[in-house]
Amino acid sequence: MPAPPTQPWLLVSDVDDTLLGDASPVAELTKALGESQPPVLMALNSSRPVASVQATLDGLQETLPVSAIVGALGTEIEIGGDPWKAWQAQFAEFRRELVWSALEGQGWQAHSAEFQTPFKASFAVPREQQSRARQALTELPFACRVIASGESDFDVIPPMAGKGRASVALAKELGVPDSRLLVAGDSANDLDLFEHVERGIVVGNARQELLDRVAPTVFRAEQPRAAGLLEGLRHYGAIPRV
Ligand SMILES: [Mg+2]
Repeated sequence: MPAPPTQPWLLVSDVDDTLLGDASPVAELTKALGESQPPVLMALNSSRPVASVQATLDGLQETLPVSAIVGALGTEIEIGGDPWKAWQAQFAEFRRELVWSALEGQGWQAHSAEFQTPFKASFAVPREQQSRARQALTELPFACRVIASGESDFDVIPPMAGKGRASVALAKELGVPDSRLLVAGDSANDLDLFEHVERGIVVGNARQELLDRVAPTVFRAEQPRAAGLLEGLRHYGAIPRV
């Protein structure tokens, strides 16, 4: 059944190299979101912590209308500037310090402090050593989920977290029907978005590692970054085509 025409849309977009980077035309996107009727809500979804994403937003010339920020691979959600505590409460058994000692104990290096949060441990583990690192995690007294991307990014989070699950939960919390939830990304650490949400936008500058793995039904924009997001919003009918 199609969604009633007045219900809002929600665009959940990755930040680095999906929304921003290289003189990305954010002004046009800001304008389109401001004029959209029914409203198109925007949420950012990053592997970086919420505080780091917020600092990036504060540094922009435009004021992007951002309803929520999902940070640290879905381990943190802030709605209207307030932490969504019920979301994080489900990760209580995950103990980052134990993940930390399991990985550091075998000589792998943690990324800098700005990439770490209570429910995300972020390390550099070369690809050929990642199966050994995953094995080390199975010895912990709780389940872990690994998100690996690029040459050596190795992030460990609770199984119930992740960019995709967080996006679906956020849409529900904001009263947006599944049929009006759109997600957008550029790299393999966004794959989780496309695995949980049917309507996806892959921006024109996306890495091959993502292009190779998303479903053929996902919209592939020709334009890079914010211009690609606009293309995707038009494709799905969230904003007018012309
Ligand atoms: Mg990215």
